[in-house]
Amino acid sequence: MTRPYNFSAGPAAIPSEVLEQAAAEMLDWHGSGMGVMEMSHRGKEFLSIYEKAEADLRELLAVPSHFKILFMQGGGLAENAIVPLNLSRAGVVDFVVTGSWSQKSQKEARKYASEVNIVATAEETGFTTVPDPASWTVSRGASYLHLCSNETIHGTEFHQLPDLKALGSDAPLVIDFSSHVASRPVDWSRVGLAFGGAQKNLGPAGLTLVIVREDLLGHALPTCPSAFDYKIVADNQSMYNTPPTWGIYIAGLTFQWLKRQTEGGLTGIAAMEQRNIAKATLLYNAIDQSQLYVNKVAANCRSRMNIPFFLRDESRNDAFLAGAKERGLLQLKGHKSVGGMRASIYNAMPLAGVQALVDYMREFEQKHA
Ligand SMILES: *Cc1c(COP(=O)(O)O)cnc(C)c1O
Repeated sequence: MTRPYNFSAGPAAIPSEVLEQAAAEMLDWHGSGMGVMEMSHRGKEFLSIYEKAEADLRELLAVPSHFKILFMQGGGLAENAIVPLNLSRAGVVDFVVTGSWSQKSQKEARKYASEVNIVATAEETGFTTVPDPASWTVSRGASYLHLCSNETIHGTEFHQLPDLKALGSDAPLVIDFSSHVASRPVDWSRVGLAFGGAQKNLGPAGLTLVIVREDLLGHALPTCPSAFDYKIVADNQSMYNTPPTWGIYIAGLTFQWLKRQTEGGLTGIAAMEQRNIAKATLLYNAIDQSQLYVNKVAANCRSRMNIPFFLRDESRNDAFLAGAKERGLLQLKGHKSVGGMRASIYNAMPLAGVQALVDYMREFEQKHA
């Protein structure tokens, strides 16, 4: 089925093939006589869904065996508390602030850590850059260093994760990869823990993915809720309490879809990365070559997933959005804190969708020149 192109930042588009399969299986999953939402999470049917989802994700993201994959709830914002509850040891924690999300994260961590050290911030550039690790002053003995590897609102992305050891820090790196998970490979040798909500690039809201190095388990503060203690969650295969079964199922179908994707002889995440580069390049070039549109992010920090842009004549914003909607280009309005427009072009957005947007942008510019 062809549908309009959906540029929502999240909850965001899910591949039609995934939704069609879920629809076909809604009332009766694989002859079981039950829909997935109606199954016991401990029954053999759901366990098979869970195990396949976990194995497929591990393969796709090349997650090493000394990392645990946890399927939790609460979203990225709950992780802002759950991470310090598990990893801070009530000591010093380091933060890199590159926008709204990492700003929120460091505020929340102050409830649990004895000290929050901002090792770098991009505030002075209006969050149009990511600070060069060479300029960071890391703390001695920090429990972890947190950064948001793709800032969904400002449209900046770390294209390389920092090597904290080279900066003189033994702290594990914690990344919030909510809005670019599965869009590119992850260098696990530099990561201690990665977390992300599913609703941007993996599936429906309600599922939170946590991938954590085993040696970081078992250090939760005594006040940490049991259901949020990573060790308890890991020891119970994410079934200490009822996991978000529907979210795991849809994410699992998305993982299968990702494994089927090919691009230039590549498959899976490597294929997605090539496609995502092509999509982002097409849109950034169209913006940079126009007289009407502008993106303010430094060229080497631009996100491949979230592309904010402005009309130089802001009085035309409503006309732009109305015309886009007529063309089947949905949810392009920018975040309220930034204004303008934002095109989120996650994995489920095909190149043809970005081409349709670029065609519309050119036509709109000519009409209003
Ligand atoms: C969307 C988003 C969040 C918020 O997650 P919730 O599921 O709403 O708690 C956190 N971090 C980043 C980078 C996001 O893009």
